[in-house]
Amino acid sequence: MREIKVYNTITREKEVFKPVKEGEAKIYVCGVTPYNHPHIGNARPFVTWDVIRRYLTHVGYKVTYVQNFTDVDDKIINTSNGEGVSWDTIANRYIDSYFEVMDALHVKHADVYPRVSEHIDEIIEMIATLIKKGFAYELDGDVYYSVEKFEDYGKLSGRTLDDMEAGARVDVDDRKQNPMDFALWKSAKPGEPYWESPWGNGRPGWHIECSTMSNKYLGEEFDFHGGGSDLIFPH
Ligand SMILES: [Zn+2]
Repeated sequence: MREIKVYNTITREKEVFKPVKEGEAKIYVCGVTPYNHPHIGNARPFVTWDVIRRYLTHVGYKVTYVQNFTDVDDKIINTSNGEGVSWDTIANRYIDSYFEVMDALHVKHADVYPRVSEHIDEIIEMIATLIKKGFAYELDGDVYYSVEKFEDYGKLSGRTLDDMEAGARVDVDDRKQNPMDFALWKSAKPGEPYWESPWGNGRPGWHIECSTMSNKYLGEEFDFHGGGSDLIFPH
C-alpha cells in the first residue's frame, strides 16, 4: 500500500502512517453539539475528514469512520429552556439540520453516529472503572477526574500541569483536589435532563464522551482522532 505521511499532534511532526491493524484505518471524529444550525466553520472539519477518509479508502484501506453527536450539553439545555421545549426536541432538530447541510456538501455519512444520550450506561461504567482505579473521585454527587493521577496529562497539547495552573481561569471550587480536575459526572440541577447513576441523578461531563464512544465502536486503540484544534488540549 502507498506510504502516507500524517501529522502527529504529540510529536508535532509528519510521520509515516502505521495502522493499528494492517490494512485498516479507524477514525473517530468529534462531532457537533446540536444546539443551532451548522455554520461554515462547523462544516470545515467534516469536509476535511471526508477527504481524508475517501483518500484512505482510495488507496486501499478498510476505513471505519465514527462521529458522535454531543446531544447532552449546557448549550442544548439553555436553548430548550429558552424555547420551552424538551432537550431532545432541540437536539433532533439540529441533528436533522446537520445532515441537511452535510448532504448539500456531499459529505459521506459516517458508519456510526453515536449519541451521548444513548451511551449513558457505558459512560457510567467507564467512570466507575476510573474511580476504582484511583483516577477519579466522587464529591457530593459529582465525579471529578484527578489530573495529578495521570502522569502524561497535557502531553497532547504540550502543556504541563504547572503551566496550566499558573494561567488557570478562575474556577474556584475548594472541594476539588486540584483546581484543574474536571467533571466526569455532574449532579442534576433543576430544569436539566438527568439519568440515574451510582452517584445519584445527573448527566455526564463532556470529557468522558469521546473516550467511551470511541472505545465502544473502535476499541482501545485506533488510528485517527479528529476534531478542531481548540479541542487538542481537552483531549
Ligand atoms: Zn473527541
